[in-house]
Amino acid sequence: MNLPSGAKEDPPNRISGSLKFGCGQANELLISSLWPDMTHDTWRDWKWQMAHTLTSVESLSVILNLKPHQVARYKRLIDIYHYAITPYYFSLIDWTDPEDPVRKQSIPDLKELEVEIVGNNDPLDEEKDMPVPGLVHRYPDRVLAVVTNMCSMYCRHCTRKRIWGSGDEGTVTTKELAAMIHYIRKSPEVREVVVSGGDPLMVNLDLLDWFLGELGLISHVEVIRIGTRVPVVLPMKVTDELVSMLATHRPLWINTQFNHPREITPEAREACDRILRAGIPVSNQSVLMRGINDSPEVMKDLCHALQRIMVRPYYLFQCDPVRGVEHFRTSVWKGMEIIEKMRGYTGGLCIPTFVVDAPGGGGKIPLQPFYMLSATDRDILLRNYEGMIIKYFNPQDTDIPALRKSGGNGRDEAVPRVLNEQAVPSLPKETSRYRRRMKKNLSPLYKGDM
Ligand code: SF4
Repeated sequence: MNLPSGAKEDPPNRISGSLKFGCGQANELLISSLWPDMTHDTWRDWKWQMAHTLTSVESLSVILNLKPHQVARYKRLIDIYHYAITPYYFSLIDWTDPEDPVRKQSIPDLKELEVEIVGNNDPLDEEKDMPVPGLVHRYPDRVLAVVTNMCSMYCRHCTRKRIWGSGDEGTVTTKELAAMIHYIRKSPEVREVVVSGGDPLMVNLDLLDWFLGELGLISHVEVIRIGTRVPVVLPMKVTDELVSMLATHRPLWINTQFNHPREITPEAREACDRILRAGIPVSNQSVLMRGINDSPEVMKDLCHALQRIMVRPYYLFQCDPVRGVEHFRTSVWKGMEIIEKMRGYTGGLCIPTFVVDAPGGGGKIPLQPFYMLSATDRDILLRNYEGMIIKYFNPQDTDIPALRKSGGNGRDEAVPRVLNEQAVPSLPKETSRYRRRMKKNLSPLYKGDM
């Protein structure tokens, strides 16, 4: 087909015609030796994909060509941090590249044990902000419901590594889900429920339908959001049946997690398209990871590719200080550099907000490059993306100087004490979160064990 000049060709469709995989002959041979029963039809069937997900040390041994003495070390690793990778996501790995970004996200790495002493199993203090098991109530008007501990793939960088399940222990019980619904019903301040996990799209369809339906019956719940990596790691699970069910629970939003442009395949695009056509907006939350996407070029390519498939780049997360994940973490300066090199150079719809999810349940704190260089009550000195410096006359408003002086929260006195580690970070007493923790006899203090 002749494309108009300047138009980009789509990536080759890996499943059109005979089965072809994007990453070369070596990968095709490995795939056909791992799944000799694979056919064109089975490849598109999410149940086949699930049934053929790699989870055992034996499969790792084949893939990584392990020596006998290495097998025990990997066995220990996956006993602590389970391993699961769908054939589909596996097929995206380029085995000729030892630094392959898809491989790094999915194949267990002994570094997870080496860095195990650093970090925290629950760095975001989620357990402390759970009024009922599995339901995190951190922000004033929204809650996060962890409805399963199962995922189709276990991402090596996951913040909730601590809850990963295996076998049948995945889904939270109906009784626990009912307790979450009961709490939300009794909390009129909750207008948005984030349904998360694990991966909520791994929950039995009828059960998920029931849970979303119960939420929909609560008059003060205005919006439901689902966090899922299924479009990235198992896009064939986004079936018409699933999407039709989800569409009955609008207003519903989906957040997914593409971390590298190579993950945006024809199958992933088709999955997102199916969701979008059902009137469900899709946004993306990437995790910033060393050697995977910690470059402005990769991140720009990713965000451009997301925009082409109509998925809004929403957040770029600083990788959390989770135990077993330290090797992925970058300095926060890297995230700010990425935003600095995108803002102004590409459209605003392509630029995610870079956030640190603060330890101790501090929540998402956005970090921007320094565009405001200096300020008086009257004038502000701004810098644009090119380095141009501009004096901006600020209309006088009596509230603003107070905000500027206090940094917005009136807790200036705590800054040197926390910086000098004479005080552990604590919640301000006037917050509703502080009151919830006290009511449950939970400490309002953050005691990270980093
Ligand atoms: S899909 Fe999400 S919850 Fe599951 S392992 Fe990946 S990042 Fe963690």
